[in-house]
Amino acid sequence: MSKFDFDLFVIGAGSGGVRAARMAASMGVRVGIAEERYLGGTCVNVGCVPKKLYVYASQYAESFSEAAGFGLHAADIRFNWETLRDNKTQEITRLNGIYRNLLVNSGCQLIEGRATVSGPQSVTVNGQEYSAERILVAVGGWPFVPNIPGAEHIITSNEVFDLDTFPKRILIVGGGYIAIEFAGVFAGLGCETQLIHRGDLFLKGFDQEIREYTAQEVAKKGVQLRFNTEISSIQKLADGQLEVTLKQGETQCVDQVMYATGRTPKTTGLGLETAGVELAPNGAIKVDEQFQTSVPSIYAVGDVIDRVQLTPVALAEGMALVRRLYGQGSPDVEYEMIATAVFSQPNIGTVGFTEEEAVKRFPQLDVYRSEFRSMKHTLSGSEERTLMKLLVDRHSDRVVGVHMVGADAGEIIQGIAVALKAGATKATFDSTIGIHPTAAEEFVTMRDVTRQYG
Ligand code: NDP
Repeated sequence: MSKFDFDLFVIGAGSGGVRAARMAASMGVRVGIAEERYLGGTCVNVGCVPKKLYVYASQYAESFSEAAGFGLHAADIRFNWETLRDNKTQEITRLNGIYRNLLVNSGCQLIEGRATVSGPQSVTVNGQEYSAERILVAVGGWPFVPNIPGAEHIITSNEVFDLDTFPKRILIVGGGYIAIEFAGVFAGLGCETQLIHRGDLFLKGFDQEIREYTAQEVAKKGVQLRFNTEISSIQKLADGQLEVTLKQGETQCVDQVMYATGRTPKTTGLGLETAGVELAPNGAIKVDEQFQTSVPSIYAVGDVIDRVQLTPVALAEGMALVRRLYGQGSPDVEYEMIATAVFSQPNIGTVGFTEEEAVKRFPQLDVYRSEFRSMKHTLSGSEERTLMKLLVDRHSDRVVGVHMVGADAGEIIQGIAVALKAGATKATFDSTIGIHPTAAEEFVTMRDVTRQYG
């Protein structure tokens, strides 16, 4: 009989924590899991899932107007925010229930309340201390908002899904995934939308050409882009409007100001420092390749370790850890060639190296580029265009990067990511027969090199 209450105690029932807990419990491990807020974590409650639902909503307005070119005329189109918001909430509540059942049915003991680490092998929740042979911290992250005068009027991705009323004018600050996705959502639903970013161009770290192309396409959808701009203060006026003053001195009034300026690991007040767990300066938990912290009995996965803030990565980390601790061992999580999508309008899909990275790594690089208006838009009247890029290491013929801006890029890139993981060469792409007529077939029909390095 173990001297511990649990073999594994998981703090945080988000993507990484739930997956690790369920998997361990299914292997006969005695698992406790604590959650203080909502089951399913950021992704299910205030992230990926509701965001994608809102992206779908915002695409309808465009579809209705584009339908006219196909002979379909929709009359009396009205957007009702309350319907969208409340239907979303209902769906999230359903998912919360599924998460609860998954945990309980797999044999985990779910404890609702805020857990703190009270020692290397103990956790306290709701005033009760539990002992555990191992602790897994999977508490995720939290939106970061810079401390400017009037910061209390700012909303983040935590609040944006549940606004009482839909704003007529919104100002979104940031140049990452969240800012760009929400700019598309608000603009698509008819809100006057500005995106303000402190740098020359948004989406730092993405392929430069993709960044520039996305800026052009996002602007076509009605988002007003303002680069090299920052807010110095926000003041709430008597009528509820927000008066925003920019660093350049200009002022303007909007209904909401949303900051999407990154997310920081949610480690404050968790008791980790007291237990001796080493943290990085930004609060991220430091772990080794085995997800073990500086305290051998304490592990961490997901956004809280601040490697790659993506749900599928947290899932992969949680599963690798459980297989290693309780299964037949596990290979390391591979952080290269992670495909990702920005659900901007149009989408970005990307896998592998950017052109800027690839040319440093593969001096003999061939770039294939194709830009076109998709067949749908020959009748829709939309000005939207699609960009696709293949980066090929001429020495090995391996395809080392694939990027796309265009409809369904997120869906298309997933399959391409499998090919790249399998080591596909340009010859493999060339010998693959296309599916006609699709945009995706362009990836297997690009024959002419656009640019060559080396
Ligand atoms: P990101 O880290 O992607 O981007 C943060 C942005 O905020 C950057 O453009 C950054 O500018 C800017 N910024 C940071 N600090 C300040 C500041 N003090 N003032 C003004 N601007 C600032 O963060 P997000 O919040 O967009 O998203 C968090 C993470 O969530 C993402 O990195 C991603 O991993 C994940 N995510 C994934 C999604 C998906 O897979 N589709 C969707 C949503 C989120 P600069 O470039 O100059 O540093």
